[in-house]
Amino acid sequence: MEADLTPPRGERYRRLSLWWDGLPGPIGVRAPLDGDTEVDVAVVGGGLTGLWTAYYLTEADPGLSVAVLERDVAGFGASGRNGGWCSALFSVSESSLDKRCGPGSGRAQRLAMEATVREVGRVVAAEGIECGFHQGGTVVLARTPAQLARTHEEIAEARSRGIGEDDLAFLSPAEATERVGATAVLGGTFTPHCAAVDPARLVRGLADVVERRGVRIHEQTEVTSIAPGVVTTTRGTVRARTVVRATEGYTRTLAGLEREVIPVYSLMIATEPLGDAFWAEHGLADRQTFADHRHLVIYGQRTEDGRIAFGGRGAPYHFGSTIRPDYDRDDTVHEALRRTLVELFPALSDAAITHRWGGPLGIARDWFSSVGMDRGTRMAWAGGYVGDGLSTTNLAGRTLADLIAGRDSDLTRLPWVNHRSPRWEPEPLRYVGINAGLRLAGSADRAEDRAGRRCRPGADRR
Ligand SMILES: Cc1cc2nc3c(=O)[nH]c(=O)nc-3n(C[C@H](O)[C@H](O)[C@H](O)COP(=O)(O)OP(=O)(O)OC[C@H]3O[C@@H](n4cnc5c(N)ncnc54)[C@H](O)[C@@H]3O)c2cc1C
Repeated sequence: MEADLTPPRGERYRRLSLWWDGLPGPIGVRAPLDGDTEVDVAVVGGGLTGLWTAYYLTEADPGLSVAVLERDVAGFGASGRNGGWCSALFSVSESSLDKRCGPGSGRAQRLAMEATVREVGRVVAAEGIECGFHQGGTVVLARTPAQLARTHEEIAEARSRGIGEDDLAFLSPAEATERVGATAVLGGTFTPHCAAVDPARLVRGLADVVERRGVRIHEQTEVTSIAPGVVTTTRGTVRARTVVRATEGYTRTLAGLEREVIPVYSLMIATEPLGDAFWAEHGLADRQTFADHRHLVIYGQRTEDGRIAFGGRGAPYHFGSTIRPDYDRDDTVHEALRRTLVELFPALSDAAITHRWGGPLGIARDWFSSVGMDRGTRMAWAGGYVGDGLSTTNLAGRTLADLIAGRDSDLTRLPWVNHRSPRWEPEPLRYVGINAGLRLAGSADRAEDRAGRRCRPGADRR
């Protein structure tokens, strides 16, 4: 089905994020499903999980009929709004995977994630998806004594697992500051296993690629329920041998799945393009993604056009797992992010913040991302990536392609395959518990920050 390129239908999506705003050309909206149909595989959700799955399914078997059903437009969800870290991070630590799934599980998952960063780079080059993919690695700074202690623990743990300097290096204060010229730097770590990307150009480009391969993408098509062999939408019924759930933070909108994966918001801001003088003084020459070791996650990247895109958690969880467009913007959280960015880089105190946005990511009750398929019902799923889904969706897509085809592979033996997370508690327990956890993380960071300032007067005025 051809895209309807008439503005302003697609243009309204530009407000979703900096990345959407920068998409070249008019934004097309694809036609919805037009009545009942039948396919081999029906994929619910047109984010990176759904599209990578369609990509690898059709790569292995070009004759397979695949339909992607998307309520809004491809890339509408977290996939088109995130921080653009295509990293090897996984929601469960290596040692915890070993404990829960057997010795060697953590290492296998880590190596698969590292290979996934390279695989995303390979595909975007092969398919000509211009998303600014650049593998400059990640620097995580230590900016308080408590953060420095966690950095040393991380390095010690890595070395005890045989992870060497090449994969995770300790940075002295001078080395860390040279890479990321922030204030109060006491040290840090560097891993090469991360690329910075423009996520909207990645997900929209991938949608075009799979469509050219014959995958039907039906946008403006809301799925109301899924069951073995049948997907019910507001535009007709889709019968399919295999049904894939790829709805992540929005999973609760499907009947009966209200407590599987919950939406938690992450919010972001972006500066105006910064001049050469700023970059000469503040590093990030290789477009390394950056963060620090605080509890309430922050993340940043130098964009291809020389801005800083910067985000963090801290937005409250909304009662009943509700998702609303106005939750994407929160003045208090956006202002706190701006203040944190200026604390890191005081030279940005007068820089204009041109974009403020956010979106829901998905969290399973045990924070354990998973991918799988029930062989009996042929109902498949992937998600619960927390904030590390950009690359993990690619691993999920390749794994689902193997599971759906019935191929036993190294991928289908990874520890996250067919993991079943418990369901979340009913409300109001969920609301009280999650928001208490968020508040605790925030106050622990503030206490560590205060203690750090007392130890090193003036250290934050670099
Ligand atoms: C602000 C922010 C920053 C982030 N930063 C990073 C980062 O830097 N690195 C990283 O690795 N991860 C990051 N993440 C997480 C990452 O973006 C996600 O894990 C990943 O994009 C999930 O992809 P997905 O396809 O599974 O879900 P989504 O991209 O959310 O896609 C789900 C799709 O399903 C559609 N849908 C939902 N319900 C229905 C329905 N009933 N019918 C039809 N369609 C439906 C939605 O419209 C949506 O398009 C971030 C997330 C956010 C919100």
